Amino acid sequence: MAAQASSRPAGVRQNIALQAFTTWKVGGPAEWFAEPGSQDELIALAAWAVGAGLCFRCIGAGSNLLIADDGLAGLTLCNRRLQGSHSDSQEGWVEAEAGEPIPTLARKVAKAGLHGLEWAVGIPGTVGGAVVMNAGAQGGCTAEWLESVRVLDPARPDQPFTLAADELDFAYRHSRLQGEPLIVLSARFRLEPGHDPAAITARTSANLQSRTSTQPYQQPSCGSVFRNPEPRKAGQLIEALGLKGLSVGGAQVSPLHANFIVNTGDARARDIDALILLVQERVQREHGIALHTEVKRLGFEGVDTPQPGP
Ligand SMILES: Cc1cc2nc3c(=O)[nH]c(=O)nc-3n(C[C@H](O)[C@H](O)[C@H](O)COP(=O)(O)OP(=O)(O)OC[C@H]3O[C@@H](n4cnc5c(N)ncnc54)[C@H](O)[C@@H]3O)c2cc1C
Repeated sequence: MAAQASSRPAGVRQNIALQAFTTWKVGGPAEWFAEPGSQDELIALAAWAVGAGLCFRCIGAGSNLLIADDGLAGLTLCNRRLQGSHSDSQEGWVEAEAGEPIPTLARKVAKAGLHGLEWAVGIPGTVGGAVVMNAGAQGGCTAEWLESVRVLDPARPDQPFTLAADELDFAYRHSRLQGEPLIVLSARFRLEPGHDPAAITARTSANLQSRTSTQPYQQPSCGSVFRNPEPRKAGQLIEALGLKGLSVGGAQVSPLHANFIVNTGDARARDIDALILLVQERVQREHGIALHTEVKRLGFEGVDTPQPGP
């Protein structure tokens, strides 16, 4: 460890509390932590971690993550400083860095008269996280508009490459990137040009308004905790059992939206984890339906909550 510390690149910090980097505001310390400000910096950090034999992972805005109270071994890279985008409003495309907030991108392309990302304005994640999760809302999703992604394989950090959208095995809240250690550096979206910027902007704002009035945006959460067991809605199954308001420690099933678990102030990751299990048990027992988490669990014992295939 001393050797790793002495040779570590500038910007790598040790023992950094991750609760400030997740929207649930929980999570223990990262053994090593860095926020690269450029793709070159990110690539150098990945090369260092591989050379030092450290496990590592990339996070975006931490808006779909439950990080264990004991924290994470190895290097955690947070991409939120990797921002920026450029677009061509005539041709109808936009390319964005992995850490660009997806709501910022939605606003920018609306102003440019590009139709396609109006649904993304209420999703508090990054472009990289949206690609990995195939984030979606209000009838739209990332897979529908993505053209390609530039990715980095940590085993070959000097050779970033491009994957076309149809190589990503997209499905409901799923991409192949969830099962592979590839890092998203940037993404290119193909959008519809020639629209009235005022109309697209109005539609984008209306989407945000309809979400903030029905979901608990004022409290720390990770959005929907469970995937919808189609054709059923997880929130409706949970609400039907009278579980709104159910609490473990500082974690509570939101009284506003039953598929949200909120941190009422002093929740720990283990409270949220226990509440997730409690809800899964009740739904299984009383509806006979297995709920699977949409949220990604990091640093917990054993494998993550089993996910159904695409
Ligand atoms: C209030 C609220 C509302 C939400 N509403 C929605 C919604 O309507 N629809 C929806 O789909 N989601 C929603 N979410 C969940 C979340 O915002 C999305 O899943 C989002 O896409 C996650 O992006 P992120 O940058 O926060 O990723 P993170 O949570 O940081 O990471 C998610 C996963 O992606 C990986 N990852 C992130 N960036 C990279 C990268 N550059 N390279 C490789 N892997 C990476 C992480 O390792 C992790 O496995 C909501 C969350 C909140 C808090």
